[in-house]
Amino acid sequence: MNLAILGAGQLGQMLALAGVPLGIKACFLDPQPDAPGSRVGAQLIADYADRAALDRLSTQCQLATFDFENVPVDAAAYLAGRIPLHPSPQALAQSQDRLREKTLFRSLGIPTAPFQAVDSLAELVAAAGQIGLPAILKTRRFGYDGKGQVWLRESADCAAAWHQLGGQDLILEGVVAFRRELSLIAARRPSGETAFYPLAENVHRGGVLDMSRPALPHPALQAQAEAYGRRLLDQLDYVGVLALELFDCAAGLLANEFAPRVHNSGHWTIEGAVTSQFENHLRAILDWPLGETGLTGPCAMRNCLGVMPDTGRVLAIPGTHVHDYGKSPRPGRKLGHITVTAPDDAHLIQRLEALEGLLIAS
Ligand code: AMP
Repeated sequence: MNLAILGAGQLGQMLALAGVPLGIKACFLDPQPDAPGSRVGAQLIADYADRAALDRLSTQCQLATFDFENVPVDAAAYLAGRIPLHPSPQALAQSQDRLREKTLFRSLGIPTAPFQAVDSLAELVAAAGQIGLPAILKTRRFGYDGKGQVWLRESADCAAAWHQLGGQDLILEGVVAFRRELSLIAARRPSGETAFYPLAENVHRGGVLDMSRPALPHPALQAQAEAYGRRLLDQLDYVGVLALELFDCAAGLLANEFAPRVHNSGHWTIEGAVTSQFENHLRAILDWPLGETGLTGPCAMRNCLGVMPDTGRVLAIPGTHVHDYGKSPRPGRKLGHITVTAPDDAHLIQRLEALEGLLIAS
């Protein structure tokens, strides 16, 4: 069984690895030579819009998916016209535009921060008046890891923010006073069977995910998140793994965004859950029974940003699992991640502290 994957980043690499024992061979399309996925599957080096490359993939593969949400929808739709592609190009399109995404949440009764589309400086000033400050001006498209965002603290900031981001489709969002950031990783099969992982708690540094770990069990919060997740999955007739990012606020959960793919905040599932998010994505898109999503024990994941710590020293800490994506170092770049497992919370904390020393030193 050959699986086409649009995008050969680390998510594609980990999908391909999960596919090996299941008899699935990955064929990637990615314009970037030597992308991480090329270490574990064949890579076609071409633009996503390259119809000849998409035709080639469709003759070599029986099924397709993607590993990032900025895949051009046209390319996904073209491939979907030749071989089954999951998640659908429609789900992809919804996730690419923050305004459509938040409007969808709102239509499903999933609470969000207050938001308004902004197309001019006058509209920005009016929206800031209605939503109140502080607020965040964001690009509707291609924003990730806090990029394409400007914070407005007082009305005098409007002109500078407009100067910085104006000329693109924008959205203004009220700043939410959240206690913590959570994410829900969900999987859904074509039949509608769904599975949810325990909520993960995420800590960001400079807008980039730094640590992710299963949150302490909270049945009411889990049920609320799953209810929102199910509404979204069913509305999109979704197939595959989806990540729903949430703010945990005094008034309840607010949805920030969703990613129509496996997600960085689900990497701990490789060693920390009975079935990883990567395997469950493959099971879902192949319409195979979904695997159990329960925890195997205490665990946490740390991202390696900008530099990889010394593998041997990390592995000297019991319970550590190193994932090196093989990327060349650049400040702030996600180069790998480390999952720490432990028999109990006390050991997990000790091991995370030991790892912290190595991450700081590197
Ligand atoms: P995003 O690109 O929307 O995921 O935003 C990146 C990060 O900025 C989030 O993980 C939050 O830490 C923060 N952030 C985004 N939107 C808001 C908001 N409306 N209120 C407060 N913090 C936010």
